[in-house]
Amino acid sequence: MNLYLHFPFCQQRCFYCDFFTLNNQEHLIGEYCDTMAKEILLYGQKLGHPTIETIYLGGGTPSVVDLENLTKVFESIRKSFQIKSGAEISIESNPDSIDKEKLKGYLKIGINRLSMGVQAWQNDLLELIGRTYQIETVQKSYKLAREAGFKNISLDLMFALPNQNKKQWLESLIEVIKLQPEHISCYSLEWDNNSIFGNHLRSGKIKASTDELDREMYAMACEELEKADYKQYEISNFSRGGSFKCQHNSDFWHYRDYLGIGTGAESRMGDKTWQNKKSIKAYTKKINEGELIADQLETLSREEQIAGYISLALRTNAGLNLNDLLEKLAFDLEKERRAELKKLVTENLIEQDNYSIKLSKKGKDLLNYILLELKVF
Ligand code: SF4
Repeated sequence: MNLYLHFPFCQQRCFYCDFFTLNNQEHLIGEYCDTMAKEILLYGQKLGHPTIETIYLGGGTPSVVDLENLTKVFESIRKSFQIKSGAEISIESNPDSIDKEKLKGYLKIGINRLSMGVQAWQNDLLELIGRTYQIETVQKSYKLAREAGFKNISLDLMFALPNQNKKQWLESLIEVIKLQPEHISCYSLEWDNNSIFGNHLRSGKIKASTDELDREMYAMACEELEKADYKQYEISNFSRGGSFKCQHNSDFWHYRDYLGIGTGAESRMGDKTWQNKKSIKAYTKKINEGELIADQLETLSREEQIAGYISLALRTNAGLNLNDLLEKLAFDLEKERRAELKKLVTENLIEQDNYSIKLSKKGKDLLNYILLELKVF
């Protein structure tokens, strides 16, 4: 089982973001982490202290949380679960919310993978998208992380930003590659209606980049990263020499169980899925009453599980393992969708052998169409 911890705090809302997160609410962190620690204890008892394969601290910006509070949460995890020896333990961070002391503290707690949001290498673009740092801070924080002893660092970039041109995108890729992190993620900007950019787009204040430019930038990323020996293992993720895949996310794409802790956190175990309430107040109240909140608890039908499995596994370069799907959900995709698979192979969108189905290079741009063709929605 994998453990996800949600910290819904950020210094400022990035203009493209519509995640569940709060700004300028740092005074709530202490009580919130106490509540998380209690929720973890409750789950440990309920689930019989299972072994945890990976831990992922996401948000929000977990690096705004101080060491004392993180330590409390980890003490609770160690009391409640067995942590697999050598387990990957990741924390998401922003370059301006980490320092030498925090980085050393993370390692001491057991966090062994640092994921840092860089997004772009140009200060004017960073400002335009509402990031709170300049590129000099990225360089400084990356150096500090290496000096502190981090041997597994992932850097995130974004493309198809408003006003971003190909030259700037290439520069971002080249500069990040020069740092030689173990892992690089590249995400296309999503225009969420509820984000600040969503408003700006509607009012005509900014313009979205074209689909053509978006796809060209994606192709540039795949090409530059491949040239620099970053192996693609999922649509948006690349690992240096193929050796530093994010285990937590890989497990998620391969439909393994995960438990989410914290307000708004989602969980899936077997055919059950649920999400905690997106309100710190309601979350804290329930946990303090000794109750786990399983809002929106749903039992997934077999069809929904098959759809979930297929749509996640196809995102990976390893592709969908036909035998694994048959074993886990008793679904023989080869037999049930023979004609559809044949059509997709003919259209050069997927590659199929006796054991697996993978997206082709062309198919990576058309995952939704492929899923529709396979009738998994
Ligand atoms: S740091 Fe991440 S979670 Fe926070 S506002 Fe920015 S994108 Fe959203």
